[in-house]
Amino acid sequence: MYRTHSNGELRAIHINKTVTLSGWVQKTRNKGFMIWVDLRDRYGVTQLIFDDERTSKSVMEIASKLGREFVIQVTGTVIERESKNPNMPTGDIEILVSEVTVLNESLTPPFTIENETDGGEDLRMKYRYLDIRRKPVRENLIFRHKVTMAVRNYLSEKSFVEVETPYLIKSTPEGARDFVVPSRMNAGQFYALPQSPQTFKQLLMVGGMDKYFQIVKCFRDEDLRADRQPEFTQIDCEMAFVEQEDILNTFEGLTRHLLQEINGVTLSAFPRMTYDEAMKKYGNDKPDIRFGMEFGELNEVAQHKDFSVFNQAELVVAISVPGGNSFTRKEIDSLIDWVKRPQVGALGMVYCRCNEDGTYKSSVDKFYDANDLAKWAEVTDAKPGDLICVLSGNANKVRAQLSALRMELAEKLGLRNPKEFAPLWVVDFPLLEWDEETNRFHAMHHPFTSPKPGQLELLATNPGAVKANAYDLVLNGNEIGGGSIRIHDKETQALMFDYLGFTPTEAKAQFGFLMDAFQYGAPPHGGIAFGLDRLVAILGGQETIRDFIAFPKNNSGRDVMIDAPAPLDKTQLEELSLQLNLKS
Ligand code: ASP
Repeated sequence: MYRTHSNGELRAIHINKTVTLSGWVQKTRNKGFMIWVDLRDRYGVTQLIFDDERTSKSVMEIASKLGREFVIQVTGTVIERESKNPNMPTGDIEILVSEVTVLNESLTPPFTIENETDGGEDLRMKYRYLDIRRKPVRENLIFRHKVTMAVRNYLSEKSFVEVETPYLIKSTPEGARDFVVPSRMNAGQFYALPQSPQTFKQLLMVGGMDKYFQIVKCFRDEDLRADRQPEFTQIDCEMAFVEQEDILNTFEGLTRHLLQEINGVTLSAFPRMTYDEAMKKYGNDKPDIRFGMEFGELNEVAQHKDFSVFNQAELVVAISVPGGNSFTRKEIDSLIDWVKRPQVGALGMVYCRCNEDGTYKSSVDKFYDANDLAKWAEVTDAKPGDLICVLSGNANKVRAQLSALRMELAEKLGLRNPKEFAPLWVVDFPLLEWDEETNRFHAMHHPFTSPKPGQLELLATNPGAVKANAYDLVLNGNEIGGGSIRIHDKETQALMFDYLGFTPTEAKAQFGFLMDAFQYGAPPHGGIAFGLDRLVAILGGQETIRDFIAFPKNNSGRDVMIDAPAPLDKTQLEELSLQLNLKS
């Protein structure tokens, strides 16, 4: 038997017991006549003591040669520790060792395996198995497990059935590129890895499964943005015979349950906001509502003077920064530089200080008097002591810029408290979205999303105005879930494909199976998918999803530990009927 107890288990009540422990040597202290070893496993750390007087010579000798991360097994007696360590659960005791076996030696690890490590990100990723021995990483993985168990239990109790869907499939359009897998047996043909199980879950509804979920890997070949993974996990869900309201209620229930179970936070009904309102008030379809700084539109109160920048703008929009009048000139200048960075792209920023004495001082005093500025303050709800920041230009662009500034300021002012949870349903998304690159409308969610009842006709006259039965669940400024009520009849689906620019032949080739299925009694249905990695990170009070994935890829989509992607050898390429014509 390798062990009688774990390294996190022994307490004062075990004193005088003979125990056997196994684990890794975290650290050793050798005073010659006395040697201490911290022995670690998943459950904790226990201190071992070897001493000249009470430990045999041969055991002392082995102990003196133990290196960091050696795997050992010891047998000994639990004794009371002379200097207790109240910071360790096992800090009252230590093990006086009588036998020791080295189960495996270890090279010196490339970084220290402690809570705080000296290893940089790249090194830790290359030796991820060592990183996982560190408590913070290990605890994140265990935390993730807790969240997924809570999800499974909750949904299972609500009669959802977890069904696996295939990974080797045909393209599902979720707006990214597919990862493809060549088929050896069908030369020149390829599978696509699912961007989501979307069509399969809809077919499960046609199949009468009624309530489906799956904790499932999805694959999207996108240009990688910070903290995105090419493979990620969704809690994918679908229900039959439901309206939007049923979906919102069911998954608000799940989210509330998770927050309660995992974070001990009780939330009342989640607020809801339409997409249009979110864009108008926050310039963003996933607003962080833990703090205010709502947008105030200044066109009416700022476009009547000689300031041509504002007069020419489609939208003049502002936020009031609480306490922002305390910013120095230098701080304001650096905010102006910040909005002018290419990533944000504003041409400049006008500001107005709201002094404690009720007077105003703006960067455009030449054009606006105290009465004008008072109106700005009224529209933006600015109080004495605040700072009004104004951007102007093309409405869509300027909203995005001001939204970025709002988030930056919230970060700077410490308004994004990770212990506070502010969920929000954003509903009534547009069905279509104009794509500048291809000069045509794309499905905003995906092509299976149903327009709102009665809006189908609008498609012909004003496609951009059609709203969908589509919704996102936002938590602390992150989209944690999104879904829709689906089209469930062949005609509407065909019409949709037509509007999205598929010829009937293309639609049939790609999605014939779904439209066929719709002819055999497809029930009304709808669903949602949560991004599990992000959800876990937020519940864990952190922002980086990589910290909650056992073996993540880096920012260039590489697994630096196994060194993937990698070239194939010639034989393998030939077997797959693939020829590479790479330009060197
Ligand atoms: N398949 C969608 C997605 O991955 C979610 C859904 O509509 O249920 O975003």
